[in-house]
Amino acid sequence: MTQSFEDPRKAAEWSAECRKRGQSVGFVPTMGALHAGHLELVKQSELENDVTCVSVFVNPLQFEESEDFAKYPRDIEKDFALLASVGCDLLFTGELTQFFPELDGDPAHTERIQNVDPGPRACGLEGAHRNGHFDGVAKIVRRLFELIVPTRAYFGEKDYQQSLVVEDLARALGYPVIRRVPTFREPSGLAYSSRNARLSEAERDVAIQLSRGLFAARDAWRTGERNAEALTQRIRGEFKGPGLEVEYVELRDPARWEQGGLTGEVTAARALVAARLGGVRLMDNLDLDETAIANRETD
Ligand code: AMP
Repeated sequence: MTQSFEDPRKAAEWSAECRKRGQSVGFVPTMGALHAGHLELVKQSELENDVTCVSVFVNPLQFEESEDFAKYPRDIEKDFALLASVGCDLLFTGELTQFFPELDGDPAHTERIQNVDPGPRACGLEGAHRNGHFDGVAKIVRRLFELIVPTRAYFGEKDYQQSLVVEDLARALGYPVIRRVPTFREPSGLAYSSRNARLSEAERDVAIQLSRGLFAARDAWRTGERNAEALTQRIRGEFKGPGLEVEYVELRDPARWEQGGLTGEVTAARALVAARLGGVRLMDNLDLDETAIANRETD
């Protein structure tokens, strides 16, 4: 049976009890408005752990624009029903002041929250386009880990750079094991995202261009294209709009992330894109070399 708490301290106690019984605890942090992509993370956790808990918290610390925060979709009852349908053990939520007791009940005093270094892989891309975003992510993820002390935590490849930042955070803390789960897509190729709920039917057709661009680059890679500029051009070639404002299209070598955007001939590449469409921010990414993924998975 799925339980739910509106107090993170209760979730911390629940997790401590589970660990005391010798159970492994899988943890999936989310901002709610759950969809099939989130459920993939939950199912993966259920396969690998004795119990699984999910947090739903729209973290104001990681939003640069208060409007985006205010408009972020929320539907906790539907979230609970979805989690219950896949047999998740616990859903918990909380207020900013509950996650951070150092605020003394005043959400305005965010300067009282200690900084957490998001590390070098937070530079560029999302880090460059969303001021303070990864500082906010690092603060909440660290606090969630401290509360739950999970055995394993699950993050989506959909937010690839975030998963790298979280890996570094977990390494510094000494726990948990971080699992990265492949992006779950609609049959059209569009990556599931809570923000898709804010797209009109016409905008949804435009949003599909993001994944179409990435798959076009993967096709080019398959036929031997290795030039970063040509691959980037293949992606941009699919971005026709109307209304699509591209923020970045970049290729990076996941093993040498700090190198920044790739140029010239490349041997490994993940393509990452972000764009705005009618006030909604969209992101997607894809490893262009499928054989590299297959090899990594058999490692
Ligand atoms: P969010 O609620 O958007 O913060 O996402 C919570 C977690 O779900 C993050 O680790 C995301 O990367 C992951 N996630 C979001 N969308 C997808 C998707 N389409 N496929 C797989 N994971 C996803």
